[in-house]
Amino acid sequence: MPSPRFCPGCGSGGLSRQCPVGDTHERLVCADCGYIHYENPKIIAGCIIEQDGKYLLCQRAIPPRPGTWTLPAGFMENGETTEEAALREVWEESGVRAEIVSPYSIFSVPKISEVYIIFRATALEETGQHGPETLDYRFFAPEDIPWDAIYYPAIRQILERYIEEREAGVYGIYMGNDDTGKIHFIR
Ligand SMILES: [Zn+2]
Repeated sequence: MPSPRFCPGCGSGGLSRQCPVGDTHERLVCADCGYIHYENPKIIAGCIIEQDGKYLLCQRAIPPRPGTWTLPAGFMENGETTEEAALREVWEESGVRAEIVSPYSIFSVPKISEVYIIFRATALEETGQHGPETLDYRFFAPEDIPWDAIYYPAIRQILERYIEEREAGVYGIYMGNDDTGKIHFIR
């Protein structure tokens, strides 16, 4: 997210980076009105939905990377819970109405200040309608998953793990960053 050039509080150009008294990080601070600009990570919520051993993937219609396939997921909106955001994204990107089963993966991508919260969910209804951000959606059997057309390694890992865990009949919860972390199994 680009930093503002003018103060969102008073419109002044007198923003400078400094550590406010009592704070731990540098912020953009307005010399004229004292406004402090906080920048915090974005949360992306989504779902992995398995139905009869097939997995819901959506094909992106818009940049970045149109034509690639991914789990339905997107930025949380203000006023939503993470579960509501995840289900809304599923609905918008695939027209599938779903319900959350449990958390499945919480991973941070610190270098771009994003946090992904992915839930296990089950499909309730397939309406065949989806929003303009999606070219196509499909439930793929594992052997048909277009692995090379899934851009994000972390998303491929989530799918690979789910396929293995479904065969083993036990599901874990991942916590970590986008390349290293731990899978917790609840006993
Ligand atoms: Zn100001």
